[in-house]
Amino acid sequence: MKKAIYPGSFDPVTYGHLDIIKRAAMIFDEITVSVLNNSGKSPLFSIEERVKILKEVTKDMPNVKVDSFNGLLVEHAKKSGADVVIRGLRAITDFEYELQLSQTNRKLCDQVDTVFLTTSLDYAYLSSSTVKEVASYGGDISKFVPPYVAEMVYRKYQKGE
Ligand code: ADP
Repeated sequence: MKKAIYPGSFDPVTYGHLDIIKRAAMIFDEITVSVLNNSGKSPLFSIEERVKILKEVTKDMPNVKVDSFNGLLVEHAKKSGADVVIRGLRAITDFEYELQLSQTNRKLCDQVDTVFLTTSLDYAYLSSSTVKEVASYGGDISKFVPPYVAEMVYRKYQKGE
């Protein structure tokens, strides 16, 4: 059984992430979407909220699981029984960082490999930061995220969090 892990901040999950999740779920037997507890960023949603949102939007995908982790990705991958890390590549600007990350992970643990899926052209421009910026000014984010996610994002900005 081929298990893969798809790590990221998912703050919040967008149609771009979902496209990668769906495509990875067709290639691998099981995908675990893992929310990274990244102390370097100040997120809009807590880890628990991001996990809840991801579970809701992937509930119809039987081979997709959601969890969260602290610390080293390769350790979490090994613990989950995954030997493949999935990452999405949007543009050349993602490439340098992603290459460095995957090579570092490989140095840390040579049983874990990274597989890159290139984004669909429809979502190449899309990032969680764009979604937050548009929503913070009251703009329409319905083309970027599923309705459930949009509702959660607007709710945050209404509360002024
Ligand atoms: P991170 O903080 O780890 O970059 P993100 O949640 O921003 O977390 O992204 C997680 C992964 O999803 C990364 O591999 C990123 O390149 C990819 N990704 C983000 N947005 C898109 C998109 N629109 N299309 C395809 N992949 C994407």
